[in-house]
Amino acid sequence: MEKSIYSRRLDLLRDRLQETDGEPCDTVWVIRPENRRYLSGFRAQDLQFTELSGSLLINKTRSLLVTDSRYLVQAEEEAVDFQVQVLKKDLAEELAQLIDGLGTKRLGFEAGYLTWGLHAKLKEQLSALSPAVDLVPLNGLIEEMREIKDGEELSSIRGAADLISGIFRELIPSLRPGMREKEVAWEIEALARDGGAEALSFPSIVASGPNSAMPHAVPTDRRIGPREPVIIDAGVRLEGYCSDMTRTVFLEGPDEEFRKIYKTVRHAQVSALKEVRPMVESTRLDSAARLVIEEAGFGERFGHGLGHGVGLAVHEGPKVGPRNPVNLREGMVFTVEPGIYIPGRGGVRLEEMVLVTDRGPEVLTGNRYLHEF
Ligand code: ZN
Ligand code: ZN
Repeated sequence: MEKSIYSRRLDLLRDRLQETDGEPCDTVWVIRPENRRYLSGFRAQDLQFTELSGSLLINKTRSLLVTDSRYLVQAEEEAVDFQVQVLKKDLAEELAQLIDGLGTKRLGFEAGYLTWGLHAKLKEQLSALSPAVDLVPLNGLIEEMREIKDGEELSSIRGAADLISGIFRELIPSLRPGMREKEVAWEIEALARDGGAEALSFPSIVASGPNSAMPHAVPTDRRIGPREPVIIDAGVRLEGYCSDMTRTVFLEGPDEEFRKIYKTVRHAQVSALKEVRPMVESTRLDSAARLVIEEAGFGERFGHGLGHGVGLAVHEGPKVGPRNPVNLREGMVFTVEPGIYIPGRGGVRLEEMVLVTDRGPEVLTGNRYLHEF
């Protein structure tokens, strides 16, 4: 029988555990919801994130999904490669028993996701066992696996990118001076739901005039003026996967200053996209864009990194910025989103999602609906 994508991913994780420096962990405990879904297929939507809704215990030969009774049916249906264990009373105590039952000596846990409270309780339980089980913090083990997308992930990401591209195509011609930022944000949400999105990837950004100088502005009641920049940054989630796209529009065209800024940002984006291919260092993309912006005299006005990976999380690896170079690899998906922000006046940002292929960049968000000045 052909292996499921989840059992293939489990195999990869098991191989990676052996490769870690120093003494390897024999069991990994996975708490982060995106990692849990990536490895098991279990899609519980945590209303309030707690370890209770589900976590995974994986060792060389066994894989357990630990959850509570609310999720039993769903877990058994979705996580077919896992043995589902329902917790009844005390999380730390029962987890310790399961960990012991797996013959664990060194338990790797996700350092960024385990709460201090549960860590303390579990440590107490595990140190009472004989021999005691060591708790070993892990950082980015599964996140690194998620940086390279497989075929199934790519088809979901393409779907999410197409959907947000279609939303921009419908939305932008409908914008009129006098509309409120919040109205536009609501329109995006309605189009996303009508188009079949599970959710937005993040609360949409609609920032007009001076508000557009804030890269992460929240939509307000401000009415959009005719000649000012409007930054619209939005994404949708489809089959768990996110998209992320930004356009800056001028309803009746920009003034001279913003015409220059817009052209510079677009030129910076195109320069960065030209560098996209396997084995190029990610920092090279950032510096290609930054050089264009510096040469136009706006070097101080591009404060954020060029882009970020997109997948089950809207912000994930690889980071594409001025520091921490990673070698680009086929199957990576990330954003290329240079921006220039002038406090008090406004800003311009353009964002595409790009896939690294052996032939170079493939822009997933369509490269359309851009002003041609
Ligand atoms: Zn964005
Ligand atoms: Zn982004």
